[in-house]
Amino acid sequence: MTKQQIDCELALKQIFEYVDHELGEHEHAWLEQHLRTCKSCFSRMEFERRLKEKVGALREDELASPLGERIKSLLKSF
Ligand SMILES: [Zn+2]
Repeated sequence: MTKQQIDCELALKQIFEYVDHELGEHEHAWLEQHLRTCKSCFSRMEFERRLKEKVGALREDELASPLGERIKSLLKSF
């Protein structure tokens, strides 16, 4: 495993907390640095962020719909 692969693995584990703004200061800074240099993690993060926005934009009744259920289970499966 290269350093890059190890960094990416670590980054992917933290992406959720990153988009939720739940990372500690140190981890947040590290991840931002990584996202600046790593295109694949960056696009993954963008994907999570958009997905999160979509879920956030759904109303209660929509979240209970099949589509809402699908998005929720999709989020859990990562
Ligand atoms: Zn990466």
